[in-house]
Amino acid sequence: MNETIDKQFQAAGVVIDGLRKSYGPVEVLQGIDLEVEPGQVVCLIGPSGSGKSTLLRCVNLLEKPNGGRIDVGGYDVTDPDVDVDEMRRHVGMVFQQFNLFPHLTVLENCTVAQLKVLKRKKSEAEAIAHKNLTKVALGHLADRYPDQLSGGQQQRVAIARALSMDPKLMLFDEPTSALDPETVGEVLSIMRNLAKDGMTMLVVTHEMAFARDVADRVVFMDGGVVVESGPAAQVINNPQTPRMQDFLKRVL
Ligand code: ADP
Ligand code: MG
Repeated sequence: MNETIDKQFQAAGVVIDGLRKSYGPVEVLQGIDLEVEPGQVVCLIGPSGSGKSTLLRCVNLLEKPNGGRIDVGGYDVTDPDVDVDEMRRHVGMVFQQFNLFPHLTVLENCTVAQLKVLKRKKSEAEAIAHKNLTKVALGHLADRYPDQLSGGQQQRVAIARALSMDPKLMLFDEPTSALDPETVGEVLSIMRNLAKDGMTMLVVTHEMAFARDVADRVVFMDGGVVVESGPAAQVINNPQTPRMQDFLKRVL
């Protein structure tokens, strides 16, 4: 990546404009507009099947949009000439299923992409991994294997792994939905700290208390369209549409 693009990525916001995505004849994203300003946290909420994961997957080009524009850090990622690998390495993604490599230690999980993709030296990659494992309070478990950790700990490793690539934007897709209730809080608390540190974050979640406390804005999607969006407290405390009111009744 050249220096100009790299500099733009120091403060990566996202601007999504008229995003459309179809699977066969079914249009699951029907013209989405959404903005995350640099350093802000936007929570994306909505019922199952509304298109939230598809939207996140379009942002880091795991899916190819059928229409519209996605701008990350001032750079059009839907441009056909875009270097997909180069763009993607600036965008961290954390999934519901942690997707750790089971045969690698916690430390190795956090160094493998640094070595292979960023071509960092082993000593440097390990130092960066340790720094990020400390950030998620797992520095002492660096030599364990994923199956020796709780779900919450595994998800914290997944966050440390993503951070070790120096992302300028973090995407979270229901990061606590697969966790036992008692470990949800530890993952949310790490995410709160990230937000405080100024990370730009787009978070799909059903954790309404988190959205209300941490998000700058909340976007409610249903059926492939944005139904409501605005400041977190306003959207969650004072929903304007029956669809949002119904949704909140079910999740609160
Ligand atoms: P959400 O994350 O809000 O639950 P998704 O983005 O996963 O919603 O899915 C939106 C819609 O797109 C759903 O109807 C889902 O069945 C459909 N869908 C998602 N991925 C695919 C795919 N790879 N092929 C076909 N349909 C898909
Ligand atoms: Mg989903």
